[in-house]
Amino acid sequence: MKLSGWGRYPALDCRLESLRKWEDASGMLRRGDTLIARGNGRSYGDAALNPDLTLSMLAMNRMQAFNAETGLLTCEAGVLLVDILETFVPRGWFPPVVPGTRFVTVGGMIAADVHGKNHHRDGTFGAHVEALTLATADGEIRECSRAQRADLFRATLGGMGLTGVILSASFRLWPIETAFVMEETLATGDLDETMSLFEASRDWPYSVAWIDCLARGAKLGRALVMRGKFMDRDALPARFAPVPLRPAPAGKLAVPIDTPSVLLNRFSVGLFNELYYRRGRTRAGPRPVHFDPFFFPLDRIEAWNRLYGRKGFVQYQCVLPRDESATGIAALLERIAAARQGSFLAVLKLFGPAGDGLMSFPMEGYTLALDFPLRKGTLALLDTLDEVTHRHGGRVYLAKDARCAPERVREGYPQYGAFETARAAAAGAPPRFASELSRRLAL
Ligand SMILES: Cc1cc2nc3c(=O)[nH]c(=O)nc-3n(C[C@H](O)[C@H](O)[C@H](O)COP(=O)(O)OP(=O)(O)OC[C@H]3O[C@@H](n4cnc5c(N)ncnc54)[C@H](O)[C@@H]3O)c2cc1C
Repeated sequence: MKLSGWGRYPALDCRLESLRKWEDASGMLRRGDTLIARGNGRSYGDAALNPDLTLSMLAMNRMQAFNAETGLLTCEAGVLLVDILETFVPRGWFPPVVPGTRFVTVGGMIAADVHGKNHHRDGTFGAHVEALTLATADGEIRECSRAQRADLFRATLGGMGLTGVILSASFRLWPIETAFVMEETLATGDLDETMSLFEASRDWPYSVAWIDCLARGAKLGRALVMRGKFMDRDALPARFAPVPLRPAPAGKLAVPIDTPSVLLNRFSVGLFNELYYRRGRTRAGPRPVHFDPFFFPLDRIEAWNRLYGRKGFVQYQCVLPRDESATGIAALLERIAAARQGSFLAVLKLFGPAGDGLMSFPMEGYTLALDFPLRKGTLALLDTLDEVTHRHGGRVYLAKDARCAPERVREGYPQYGAFETARAAAAGAPPRFASELSRRLAL
């Protein structure tokens, strides 16, 4: 069937099989086939696509063990984050790291080593994974952790499915007293102010900024910086107190059809940015909000990826080292504003130190992410953004990528050599686990 990532570009004809247990995989493989595991397809580009064989993990969705003393959860890799939240928030537990959508699997979170709004304090999701089981090319199932097969474990965190199929994982949930976050929104006038506010917000567990990517000149980098922390029970206003651990509210808006791309033009984007910025300035806070809109604002609009029209879109996400971030992010924003191609959703975030995943994306510094509807000139613009990122010692996020050049990725990930060695031992030669992304990037 035709499969794509969340950006709907590229879309490829793939043989898709659903895995219930690893033993069934050998029957699915034809001689010489390669395969890639697929979670819920929320990576944007071609990471979870393989025309030979794409293995859906969604049926491997059992929770296997939970220790209510320590918060340690063991579950199969196809369990969705939304199911973890629905099961454990009412019991007073929350995952240590969550990305910007609830519709990802545990396997996908490990393979991309996802980050959340608390990376500056708590690192990536992988930092909290204590152990995992991995099916490798010889058909064996291997236990991996920081103490056992540490090289393979580190290659699998952020390894984009290329070391094998993650079957299950153990990680610790964190206790929460309420499902509410105290949120504060602060408007800044330019990039200097935005970055200073991130630095001043280091004690806040969660922080993120929405950047007005059309602002130029003195307003370049103006933003709304949102920061938050989970609320204790005794701080909760009376109206929320009866159900302090309320799960996510039901009900969503949907985008029923592909939006004609003509609606998404520089005027609509410009208007949205101006109105959003003005509205945010009046929201200030601090105010209590449910964790769901705080962490997953886009999940409220089902299939929002259709807003970009039938041709789809690409997301550009890069990170720059800390001492290069001020000049590098300014240079990126200048190019984006001049090209007037960016979309509504531009996000800036401060990362803390890198973790131990060999191919994990985060490094200490600032990350910028934004969507670009696919049009004439979009890919050329992204090539110029790559040059800026490269010049400032940064790299792009593979979970978002659909178009980067191989050499840029090699240069950006200095531990690629160690990753290749660990992968060869697990995936065989030539590697059995491969995706469209690994072919395109010659990984
Ligand atoms: C709205 C939105 C917001 C997002 N926000 C963030 C964010 O804040 N931070 C962030 O880091 N990311 C973010 N992402 C990206 C997303 O978290 C990652 O791409 C994640 O990997 C998607 O999980 P998935 O289960 O859908 O995996 P898929 O997209 O299906 O696969 C992603 C990768 O994981 C591999 N994989 C999946 N399951 C397995 C398995 N069982 N074994 C081995 N490999 C496997 C695939 O081969 C592929 O390489 C966001 C995505 C969206 C759509």
